[in-house]
Amino acid sequence: MKTVLILGGTTEARLLAAKLAARGDLDITLSLAGRTEKPVEQPVPVRTGGFGGAQGLADWLAGHKTDLLIDATHPYAARISANAAEAARISRVPILALRRPGWEPVEGDRWTLVDDAEQAVGALREKPRRVFLALGRQEVAAFENAPRHAYIIRSVDPIEPPLGVSDATYILARGPFAEADERVLLTKHRIDVIVAKNSGGQATYGKIAAARELGIEVILFRRPQLPDVPSAPSVAALVAMVDHFAAPAEKRGV
Ligand code: NAP
Repeated sequence: MKTVLILGGTTEARLLAAKLAARGDLDITLSLAGRTEKPVEQPVPVRTGGFGGAQGLADWLAGHKTDLLIDATHPYAARISANAAEAARISRVPILALRRPGWEPVEGDRWTLVDDAEQAVGALREKPRRVFLALGRQEVAAFENAPRHAYIIRSVDPIEPPLGVSDATYILARGPFAEADERVLLTKHRIDVIVAKNSGGQATYGKIAAARELGIEVILFRRPQLPDVPSAPSVAALVAMVDHFAAPAEKRGV
């Protein structure tokens, strides 16, 4: 049996783990950072917590005689992706990555691109606005620097401590989010502007499509640079790459 480590924390990582487990000839472990309090159930054994940098991950790969490393982390989880590429190099374990393409603007989108939360705060400008923050817990703290705005904040886990602003509404929810529901939410809360990451995929695109329809501005974080490793844009394409990897040498033409 070949041994595979999937770096996860995304829906795709879970779907990929299920697809690969169904083959029956791979010993798969899924790794989570441990950020989410109640992570959804996974179809394969899970290990949780950081490895201690690239060297720590390389040691883990060697210690567990790993045959293949798959980086299926979130497109904005740049540090673990860099560590994965470096660990693969150190340990000489092959690496594949799932690189979900970002969304591209279409006619009617009103996007303002920023590099990080500080820039997003600046892009809200002076006039008080009603802001929908569709961001992780780690990024919302920066918005305390602009307490004149009203915030509607959606996150998987509660924002603790709450934001130090006078007008904040919290919504706990886990995607996927349908476009029609997003339209209702944006209208109900009279949202002027959305702040979000360009996550790509369908699960969180609903708010982007709804914003376009309602003429709402979207402040989008630019994608971080990720290391250049063999990659696929979808779960199906990555499964095909793993099929090739796991095939007997003669079938691969080796
Ligand atoms: P990050 O900044 O790239 O990683 C920070 C550190 O967290 C890494 O150096 C590593 O610690 C640890 N880590 C991250 N992912 C890990 C994993 N899958 N397994 C074990 N350790 C991991 O990542 P992040 O932005 O904090 O994201 C953490 C996790 O949440 C990722 O698994 C990602 O897929 C998921 N996620 C992130 C976002 C986002 O917007 N950033 C959104 C949805 C889900 P060591 O150096 O000690 O190994």
